[in-house]
Amino acid sequence: MYDVLIIGLGCAGYTAAIYTARYKLKTFIIGAEEGGMGMTAAEVGNWPGDIEVRGPDLMERFKKHALSFTDLVTHKITRVEKAEQADGGFRLTLQGGETVEGRTLIFAMGSNKRRLDVPGEAEFSGKGVTYCATCDAFFYRGRDVAVIGGGDSAVEGAAIAAQVARKVYLVHRRNEFRAEPYWVDEMKKRENIVFVLERNVVEILGDQKVTGVQLDKEFEGSPELRVDGVFIEVGSLPATALAKKMGCALDDRGFLRVDEAMRAGIPGVFGAGDVTSGSNRFAQFATAAGEGAVAANSVFNYLQTGA
Ligand SMILES: Cc1cc2nc3c(=O)[nH]c(=O)nc-3n(C[C@H](O)[C@H](O)[C@H](O)COP(=O)(O)OP(=O)(O)OC[C@H]3O[C@@H](n4cnc5c(N)ncnc54)[C@H](O)[C@@H]3O)c2cc1C
Repeated sequence: MYDVLIIGLGCAGYTAAIYTARYKLKTFIIGAEEGGMGMTAAEVGNWPGDIEVRGPDLMERFKKHALSFTDLVTHKITRVEKAEQADGGFRLTLQGGETVEGRTLIFAMGSNKRRLDVPGEAEFSGKGVTYCATCDAFFYRGRDVAVIGGGDSAVEGAAIAAQVARKVYLVHRRNEFRAEPYWVDEMKKRENIVFVLERNVVEILGDQKVTGVQLDKEFEGSPELRVDGVFIEVGSLPATALAKKMGCALDDRGFLRVDEAMRAGIPGVFGAGDVTSGSNRFAQFATAAGEGAVAANSVFNYLQTGA
């Protein structure tokens, strides 16, 4: 029986594990993908201590730090439940059926990219449609692509894609961007970005692979943009399905509801990072790390005092 089970190999999970292991708690940390969302951040300029660092490099350092104290397991969790022991505890079921038990639990499962839900999206997923411009733009060197969205990921994605693509259409339903001003400025410097504002994509077109997108209103005389790649960057949804299933409460936007100690409503269950309602839902490396530290401290206190 472990003292603590941590689900998530991202910034929040790694930080929590560093703290719980240093509290000398028997720690089990697991995640489907090492590094989580941090792996998709091309350039991070607000992680204190690094003027500029690539997301994957930052996550590699987190992993190395966590590994200096504890092992980690790369695997998907399919079920989380209360264990039957008299003294409580929790059980994780890994894909494949293996189970692991622990006295406390930290959900640090981050978020999943939101779908656009238009015809052609599922059909051409992986055939020109992807959900990470910064990860996949490299495959579209010298070609025309569309980035859909207007937040941080879309704006950063368009700026990065414009470094390799011939032309980047940035399709956004509003006429202004809700992204970090740094990335809006970077994007505006790129002359090969074409702003397609106050337009929605209503269909993704293709044959064997993507050939274009259909808009709800004409742009420069046509309702169709001819592109080879479509990057859907319309936000993320917290990965709360397993937490909800075991009885944790969500807030009105679907985030795992936590208090100031990162307690998630069920004694012994905590949350950290993008999955939670904490830090005013400001989903950043700094807040995910902070929440991971608080959750670990709360686990330690809970195991000492039961509160
Ligand atoms: C393109 C982009 C650029 C960004 N740039 C910045 C930036 O410059 N500065 C900044 O501060 N923030 C930035 N962010 C935000 C930052 O990446 C996140 O806030 C942070 O990575 C969240 O960490 P997390 O640990 O909460 O979640 P995640 O990193 O998403 O980790 C979640 C973990 O849970 C695992 N998981 C989920 N479901 C399961 C399951 N069923 N079974 C097992 N494991 C599971 C995942 O595999 C993953 O390991 C950016 C985000 C994006 C998308």
